[in-house]
Amino acid sequence: MFSAHLPLAAIVPLPNSVRIISVLSATLDLKVYVGEGVNCSNSQIYQGSLGDHLKNIWTQYRGFVFVLSCGAVVRLIAPLLEHKSIDPAVVVIDPTGQYVISLLGGHQGGGDQLARMIAISLGAQAILTGASNSMALPAIDTLGKAWGWVKGEGHWNQVSSAIARGEEIEVLQEAGSTLWQKNLPSGHPFIFNQNIQSSIAKAKIYISPVLGKFSDESSIAKVQWYPRVLWIGIGCSRNTSRELIQKSIEQTLDRQHLSSAAIAALVSIDLKADEVALVEVAKSLNIPFLTYSAEALNQVEVPNPSAIVESEVGTASVAEAAAILAGGDLLVTKTIFQDESGWVTLAISQSQREYIGRIGSLSLIGTGPGSLEHITTAVKLALTKVDVIIGYQLYLDLIEPLQRPGQIIEAYQITQEQQRADRAIELARWGLNVAVISSGDAGIYGMAGLVLETLQQQQWDGHNPQLEVIPGITALQSASARLGAPLMHDFCAISLSDLLTPSNVIEMRLEAAAKSDFVIALYNPRSQTRQHQLIRAWEILSHYRSPDTPVGMVKSAYREQEEIIVSTLAQLLELPIDMLTTVIIGNQSTARYLDYLITPRGYLQRQG
Ligand code: SAH
Repeated sequence: MFSAHLPLAAIVPLPNSVRIISVLSATLDLKVYVGEGVNCSNSQIYQGSLGDHLKNIWTQYRGFVFVLSCGAVVRLIAPLLEHKSIDPAVVVIDPTGQYVISLLGGHQGGGDQLARMIAISLGAQAILTGASNSMALPAIDTLGKAWGWVKGEGHWNQVSSAIARGEEIEVLQEAGSTLWQKNLPSGHPFIFNQNIQSSIAKAKIYISPVLGKFSDESSIAKVQWYPRVLWIGIGCSRNTSRELIQKSIEQTLDRQHLSSAAIAALVSIDLKADEVALVEVAKSLNIPFLTYSAEALNQVEVPNPSAIVESEVGTASVAEAAAILAGGDLLVTKTIFQDESGWVTLAISQSQREYIGRIGSLSLIGTGPGSLEHITTAVKLALTKVDVIIGYQLYLDLIEPLQRPGQIIEAYQITQEQQRADRAIELARWGLNVAVISSGDAGIYGMAGLVLETLQQQQWDGHNPQLEVIPGITALQSASARLGAPLMHDFCAISLSDLLTPSNVIEMRLEAAAKSDFVIALYNPRSQTRQHQLIRAWEILSHYRSPDTPVGMVKSAYREQEEIIVSTLAQLLELPIDMLTTVIIGNQSTARYLDYLITPRGYLQRQG
């Protein structure tokens, strides 16, 4: 599990809620505090009053989970609250474990998300009372979180209220990802980048690296997000002072009305990787310091090359070339700053794509046969965590109730598997948390293999992006469950699609499986244009198995149009088999009883 909410504390004052916390501890990394007399493994007993205990540990955790009444929790935490930008998330679970209430820190504290995850783990109902949730809108104070945007100044409460009232909100976005704009529900209140009269819009959202957006405007409520798009290319003489470097950055940003919050990184030449002042300034600004080789920099065409620099370090430009290499087009060309400690050259580029500043992840997920109750809890948890869900439209529709507001959903056609894999990897490498969904299980004729193969081709290091494959209920399990117990003995799966597998290989496997008396599950059995494989399969199977061998087909298992037919091998080709069907061919001992298929494991025979 990726751990967005850590560290988390659970407070369990009463003995009857221990079961709830035990369930949660399996999926969340919780530090559990219990009242005296409460018996719970891996917990710590707090002495004295809970109020005093909370005061002691309040600042150590980013989230608190209480199993207690809301009233009691409100009274306990009231004296500890400061501001929503720093207060932790507080989630309350009712003592029966049916409801999970996001009480505090819903947006910025991540409380809503924590409540959703706990509710999924407990099979409970999450109660989120924030307005943006009910409107299926992303919360404005966490809007840019996924893209690493830095929250700027503004009237956050007023703008949130205006959104809740359904008032028109003008959005001026000059930088950063616009993916969020494309995933809003219809009837959303935003008006994008239009020069409308400010009297129409009741509030404004600026998404830009430019400072001072507020001064020109009237009294309407505004907020600003800073996408990190500025790349500071910098060169300096040895032992230049930290002050000069700081001053040169500040002055350049000021002159251009740019915010330091929008800086992605400081970039320079390898030679400067150990330049103390550069390292320190990057650290103080909490940004990375990246360097390039002289050779790489010398390839870059710059407006102001210098022959002297070239003769000294092997590239005609450091500041401009590094800025261009890291971020793209120059926003500010080379400027020189000097004092008694030395000199600094500085240039700034602005990238199309913002720097997110975290390691992204890929969750390769199987969403089961098609009904929500057959999706595992682990898959539901992963789906609620990710920023982006990529999949085939039909499967995205099936999981729509599990999507949360603000998530980016990207649908692809059935044949665009490589595009899906490429896009997912690209977004995850950028820093987003991405789920790629397959029906059934992702690793069984699903997307997991292709994504991993593509990563392998790209010489993925195993860490960036992070990766998890989460199992789902595959079609043969669903079909088997609907048919009774046909897979009770050794079985195999064979896909009849020759799109990626040569026909002779499919036939060879059919032959071997038929000969070895495996129960066989046929995936992709027949499409409108591809009928012959099923005929060929029938011929091969008929060679080894009797015509009255039981056969079952399940079409659209656990979906609305589900159809189940139990028949025999002799009838196989007459069945309404299509691409939404899984066919199970019994082995020599499979029997039919009522509408069930049963393959004996041997228990009764043993009892003899
Ligand atoms: N990853 C999927 C398989 C994808 S291949 C899984 O693990 O289930 C697509 C094939 O799976 C279909 O042609 C059909 O044979 C089978 N299939 C998928 N969902 C199904 C369902 N709900 N009912 C019956 N068969 C299904």
